[in-house]
Amino acid sequence: MTLPDFRSEADNLATQLIAWRRDLHQHPELCFQETRTAGLAARTLAKLGYEVRTGVGQTGVVALLHGGRPGPTVMLRADMDALPIQELSDAPYASQTPGVMHACGHDGHVAIGLAAATMLARHAAELPGNVLFLFQPAEEKGGGARAMIADGALADPTPAVAFGLHLWNSLPAGRVAAQAGPLMAAADILKIVVRGRGGHGAHPHETTDAIAVTGQVLSALQTIVSRNVDPQETAVLTIGTVHGGSAFNVIAETVELQGTVRTFSPAVRETVLTRLRVLLDGVTAGMGASYTLDVQGIAPAVVNDPAASEIARAAAIQVVGGAAVAWRPPLMVSEDFSEYGRRVPACFMLLGSGNAGLGLNAPHHNPRFDFDESVLPIGAALLATAAAKFLHDNALATSCSETSRSP
Ligand SMILES: [Zn+2]
Ligand SMILES: [Zn+2]
Repeated sequence: MTLPDFRSEADNLATQLIAWRRDLHQHPELCFQETRTAGLAARTLAKLGYEVRTGVGQTGVVALLHGGRPGPTVMLRADMDALPIQELSDAPYASQTPGVMHACGHDGHVAIGLAAATMLARHAAELPGNVLFLFQPAEEKGGGARAMIADGALADPTPAVAFGLHLWNSLPAGRVAAQAGPLMAAADILKIVVRGRGGHGAHPHETTDAIAVTGQVLSALQTIVSRNVDPQETAVLTIGTVHGGSAFNVIAETVELQGTVRTFSPAVRETVLTRLRVLLDGVTAGMGASYTLDVQGIAPAVVNDPAASEIARAAAIQVVGGAAVAWRPPLMVSEDFSEYGRRVPACFMLLGSGNAGLGLNAPHHNPRFDFDESVLPIGAALLATAAAKFLHDNALATSCSETSRSP
């Protein structure tokens, strides 16, 4: 059995894809508030014949398509949430919600997911297995994948493999990365409070100046990546906010810092967090201060499974041709698709969506972010092809092993 030509089928859905994407772009919704988006997904999927569950992980949607022949279940995921950014755009489809914007391309992901769902539903009778769609809330702040999993999204049926993709503006439109191994980093949020003893700005000897302590803490932390992490490994430790003090003549009692740690390997993450504690212990104690540290893991690293990546890569070659499929260095951003990858073999792909010639190359999370909509059919074809290829390859392997066992 040959795989359907999902690229041509998706090209025929281009108008619908753009209509969905622009509608969603005009009506962006923040983390765990994606009710309108989820409603559109649920209605569309139900009409296509999917078994639909809503309210999974608060605002998530799970939809199951039964294939015409028995087989495993393949999972496809699209994230739905927007960002608290005021859009700067003259496009007719610009956000109609002040201060909220699809600045990461998740509007495109939802449209792509719905188009892939449309095509797979048309071929349901031929599919040797099932397709499970997850339309996920709250990717940006993290927590959406975990919430859906906690609500049983992977429980019945449990998928044998998972695929997802992210539109990526720093890749030229139509390029695809579908590679085994690390793709996106693990992310942790740090909250540190340095606690001294406040007092009069003219009497420092009666105080413990939390701002002076923080100065030493900040320079000590810079040595973790440069002096403690193996140079062959990768890590980032960024302190993004420092807040302390209230007046020119008052010595601050506390200073609050927020930051993030990005790593690929659990061992490197452990090294960074251990050194962080050791330095905070030493510097604050040495200066007569104290501290509290709160570490909140947002997402583990996206590390693509070799076998799942092989299928994704073959699907990508079929959809865009081998020349457009390339390895790219891992990214330090994070993605909670990794929560699925922790539980089932998975591959997360990047689909180039930047087009400098059309001015569609602003970075993600930028108020002028927009992407080249001509890649939407490619995205839909990638997901549908990867899903169908997994099911067909599996059916072929099963029938071969049954043939070889028969006398
Ligand atoms: Zn984002
Ligand atoms: Zn994103």
